[in-house]
Amino acid sequence: MKVISTVPHHSVVKQCVCRKCGSTLEYTPNDVTENPVTDYTGCTDIYKVINCGNCGTEITVS
Ligand SMILES: [Zn+2]
Repeated sequence: MKVISTVPHHSVVKQCVCRKCGSTLEYTPNDVTENPVTDYTGCTDIYKVINCGNCGTEITVS
């Protein structure tokens, strides 16, 4: 296996806007943290979150 580029390919790079500071963020699946949250019925939802590189706010992504 040979790595020909470590720059994230555009097919995996996503963008979102921080709702707090308004920065446009570019992220790859590597930057996403999966946060399992169990609600009162016992169902577990996985929230995918990233942290804004500017203000540190946690942002839920899909
Ligand atoms: Zn921010």
